[in-house]
Amino acid sequence: MIQLVEAFGGCCSSCGFDVSHTAMDFHHVDPTSKRFTLALDRFTRSWGKIVPEAMKCILVCANCHTEIEAGVRECPPQPDYNAVLALAQADT
Ligand SMILES: [Zn+2]
Repeated sequence: MIQLVEAFGGCCSSCGFDVSHTAMDFHHVDPTSKRFTLALDRFTRSWGKIVPEAMKCILVCANCHTEIEAGVRECPPQPDYNAVLALAQADT
């Protein structure tokens, strides 16, 4: 899943935090579209399943994620996902 963090630019899209990959969360921009949680410690799904889910998300640090969920921090815009898509292509 580290590759996925790097495909998202490797840092928090809100505050730029990039010290620890394990402090990163994938935030679903539209929570109703969420099918499963993307977590760094879980790597049991293929890229074919992970990538479509990742394209509903932004990469933020745990601090910003908490603040976005609480509504006190603005949700940053979604990236172009080109590097994320490349992961799915590398899988085949
Ligand atoms: Zn942050």
